[in-house]
Amino acid sequence: MEPATEIVKRFATGAISLGSISREAHESLAIAMNRIGARSNSGEGGEDHRRFKPDANGDRRHSAIKQVASGRFGVTTNYLVNATDLQIKIAQGAKPGEGGQLPGHKVDQYIGWVRNSTPGVELISPPPHHDIYSIEDLAQLIHDLKNVNSQARIHVKLVAEVGVGTIAAGVAKAHGDVVLISGDTGGTGASAESSIKHAGLPWELGVAEAQQVLVQNDLRGRIVVQTDGQIKTGRDVAVACLLGADEFGIATASLVTQGCIMLRKCHLNTCSVGIATQDPELRSRFTGKPESLINYMFFVAEDLREIMAELGFRTMDEMVGRVDRLETGDAVEHWQKTRGIDLSGLLTMPEAGPGVATHHSYDQDHGLERALDNELIAKSMEALEHRVSVDIEMPIRNANRTVGAMLSGEVARRYGEDGLPEGTIHTRFTGSAGQSFAAFLAKGISFRLEGDANDYFAKGASGGRIVVVPPKEASYVPEENVIIGNVALYGATGGEVFIRGTGGERFCVRNSGARAVIEGVGDHGCEYMTNGRVVVLGPTGRNFAAGMSGGIAYVLDETNDFASRCNQEMVDLEPVVDHEDIEELRGLIEAHLLHTESANAKRVLSAWDEMLPKFVKVYPRDYRWFIEARKRGELEPVSNG
Ligand code: SF4
Repeated sequence: MEPATEIVKRFATGAISLGSISREAHESLAIAMNRIGARSNSGEGGEDHRRFKPDANGDRRHSAIKQVASGRFGVTTNYLVNATDLQIKIAQGAKPGEGGQLPGHKVDQYIGWVRNSTPGVELISPPPHHDIYSIEDLAQLIHDLKNVNSQARIHVKLVAEVGVGTIAAGVAKAHGDVVLISGDTGGTGASAESSIKHAGLPWELGVAEAQQVLVQNDLRGRIVVQTDGQIKTGRDVAVACLLGADEFGIATASLVTQGCIMLRKCHLNTCSVGIATQDPELRSRFTGKPESLINYMFFVAEDLREIMAELGFRTMDEMVGRVDRLETGDAVEHWQKTRGIDLSGLLTMPEAGPGVATHHSYDQDHGLERALDNELIAKSMEALEHRVSVDIEMPIRNANRTVGAMLSGEVARRYGEDGLPEGTIHTRFTGSAGQSFAAFLAKGISFRLEGDANDYFAKGASGGRIVVVPPKEASYVPEENVIIGNVALYGATGGEVFIRGTGGERFCVRNSGARAVIEGVGDHGCEYMTNGRVVVLGPTGRNFAAGMSGGIAYVLDETNDFASRCNQEMVDLEPVVDHEDIEELRGLIEAHLLHTESANAKRVLSAWDEMLPKFVKVYPRDYRWFIEARKRGELEPVSNG
């Protein structure tokens, strides 16, 4: 029969973020799961890159599954390549549709550093991802992540709800490798009590529906079905498997092995056992050991093996989807309100014709061999292996998607967080770039595009430099025309971007570190930005700076009406008078002129004294507090955690 050592490889911890629990607890979970070939889940919010290097004794402290949630906190290229699985969190089982939040008192200096955000400021992950509005958008993000880390499985985390089977089928068609069906009873005490008690549906319903739809459409073989939501025993795993799951997330019980006593006050930062807290004194009380979690996982596996023996299954693959082996008599005949309940919809074995798989049996075809990056990587070998500068020129067209992500993955895999020296790989493209051009562009790569770019331009940019200029023969006025699409620089964590023209909607949403100059933007610019700098040398659309808690934007307001289009709930608007601000603004515009030869930038710089008063500084109030406290020496930058 399948040994316990193989069974535990199907277990994951469930998503538990570094912000919501202490680093000691987070690392203990990771070490334990890595030792047995199982997977811990980083949860949302990045991971300290120093954990990516193995310890002297061979232990690995980083989470195998790394989440990519709507906040995109800490989602750098280095974070992405140091994962065996990348999980797109669409929703959480305990609170579907609510997004996530980390209260300000849990965002200390360290967590702020890991997440590229402002300490003390509440972090909100909104329900939607700003780059996903359709199943095609989801397919694009899956493709982006697969490009940056081709060795990782790409998960999509859904919640159990009516119709989840159809969505799971969409995920399979969008080339997701794993679909997670999360149940209503998951979620630590950090979720609102009303959500824990009243929102979501049990995973049993979601798994059964997903299995039926996937098998009926002959999609089951190419996707792994994982489930979570208070799975604790071998029996829970057996039921989930018989309903159709291949893999299982065990979160709350994992924390109990580390000392959690279920006080359910995780959101208060006062966890007395040093788990759900960032308070140094409480953290010192953490007594959890990786061995406890390892023992527990093996107990669950052995418990399951006994059930498998009773049912006559040799392997878990044989068990997946065998709803005919579930015994329902006790439930249906129970005297309480379940008496007579009709479970036939739930316990239907979908008809699988000849050759139709009923469990995961082969890998998705991601079509990576067609990526333009294969050519780019081949031409960059000298730079990748010996840090020798290379200069590349190539045409590009809009069928070339996610150009630069695979190359960036190669840089991050070899050189980690530091990347390569600036401009080591310099590439000039001409043409119309497809979606996600320069996604996750790593340090040391510079892209210059003469043409235009589609949506998701520079998504997750991670330290590279990107310049876009119109074609030389263009007859239009650049500052009056859109040359990059919607959702540019979403979730960027670093790098420099210069655009000789205007951008679409949602420019720099969730930017947490990139510096960008552009000549006009559409609606919702700089929404939810947490760090970085943005200069807009032209008009903006509505709702600029909504939810912006960090970073600074400088907007050239020549028509004196920017205030009416800026969402001032979290930001102050003021003139640029501080010496450091003036230097910074001028420096960015000069760099823009240097890289793009923008006539607009030239016009502004040549009449600087007259133009400077027309700039508006968009300054988030929380960020002001942080900057001023740092100037007073009350906050030191994090250097060693
Ligand atoms: S002991 Fe309480 S506060 Fe701490 S992790 Fe467990 S439930 Fe949360």
